[in-house]
Amino acid sequence: MNLELSEEQDAVRQLAEDFVAREITPHVVEWDRAESVDKSIVKKLGALGFLGLTIPEEYGGSGGDHLSYCLVTEELGRGDSSVRGIVSVSLGLVAKTIASWGDEEQKRQWLPRLTAGEAVGCFGLTEPGTGSDAGNLSTRAVRDGDDYVINGSKMFITNGTWADVVLLFARTNDTPGHRGVSAFLVPADAPGLTRRTVHGKLGLRGQATAELVLEDVRVPASTLLGPEGKGFSIAMSALAKGRMSVAAGCVGIAQAALDAAVRYAGEREQFGKPIASYQLVQELISDISVDVDAARMLTWRVADLIDRGQDFATAASTAKLFASEAAVRAANNALQVFGGYGYIDEYPVGKLVRDARVMTLYEGTSQIQKLIIGRALTGVSAF
Ligand code: FAD
Repeated sequence: MNLELSEEQDAVRQLAEDFVAREITPHVVEWDRAESVDKSIVKKLGALGFLGLTIPEEYGGSGGDHLSYCLVTEELGRGDSSVRGIVSVSLGLVAKTIASWGDEEQKRQWLPRLTAGEAVGCFGLTEPGTGSDAGNLSTRAVRDGDDYVINGSKMFITNGTWADVVLLFARTNDTPGHRGVSAFLVPADAPGLTRRTVHGKLGLRGQATAELVLEDVRVPASTLLGPEGKGFSIAMSALAKGRMSVAAGCVGIAQAALDAAVRYAGEREQFGKPIASYQLVQELISDISVDVDAARMLTWRVADLIDRGQDFATAASTAKLFASEAAVRAANNALQVFGGYGYIDEYPVGKLVRDARVMTLYEGTSQIQKLIIGRALTGVSAF
């Protein structure tokens, strides 16, 4: 694995860093308090190519490798995890899945708009009754002539109220030993689809998280993504790559925690000296730094494996597990460095703690990542 960034990779990272400083950082507190990021950020992300990374140029993408995608994701996560999540879902879970599984018409219909930020995608897998056991979902799509009629509900869907297209997973048929889940590209304005914002989240407050209810939603069979019955594999392959993106966002959180802690420790004086001069404060800072480096290396390894066409699923679970737990530890250590000021939202670290916490929950909880890693090592499924 080459740990040197190429000139192109460093340029795209710098572009993202500058974008965050200009367009995101000045608004972070306001968006968090208002429980909404300004939606105009999506088109700005698209204009810079950040919503088209790794997508072929013929479909409006900006190409690039997965390490560049990680670098941009890390910078966005360093600025605001709500914005980072918009990209991780619309590009990472939706556009990339369409690019991998879509037919020519589906790619032409959605990819140019998604990569330009003219459309937003959401990923509808989780339901009120099924989270970790996602394959057991109960939303059902029944074939009726040239259409499918879909009924059911989805919970905690990132970008849900903003989305133009829902990558929706629904049960189509069940045969013994076969889950019978299929994937659909459902236009968000389809009659019978209603969306309700989930308010009161601990973190990621700027993000449009929604509950979706589908009542007799009729879609043409041409909205089926990939073969019927392949939906669970499609969801799992999307999430495996998605975990790299979550891990990169966590590296960004941990890096932001480190930057803030070092800066504050140098400025804040107690007992007549900067708190940076106390060994116990340096311990907090060095613990954060070790977490940043280790999480970053594990995340870059996933990008490297994907770019070299190697098997990456276990490495992605390893990176996501470590980086999400590391982000929680790092943000918490930074809050400790800030003392009481860390506990109010005029200072950045309280939000980092709140945003980091969900990373150990979504796209597979830490327990689920351990079961994936354990299965790969032992050959025995403990689900
Ligand atoms: P449960 O599955 O009920 O788990 C509860 C606890 O039980 C956890 O600790 C879990 O680890 C543990 N557990 C469950 N099964 C096992 C087992 N076999 N062994 C050991 N422990 C186990 N979903 C989407 O589809 N699309 C999205 O865009 C999306 N965005 C989200 C955004 C936010 C802010 C949040 C909070 C969630 C989002 N989710 C999304 C849903 C998320 O993926 C689920 O919340 C997650 O998979 C966990 O499911 P659950 O909440 O139902 O918890």
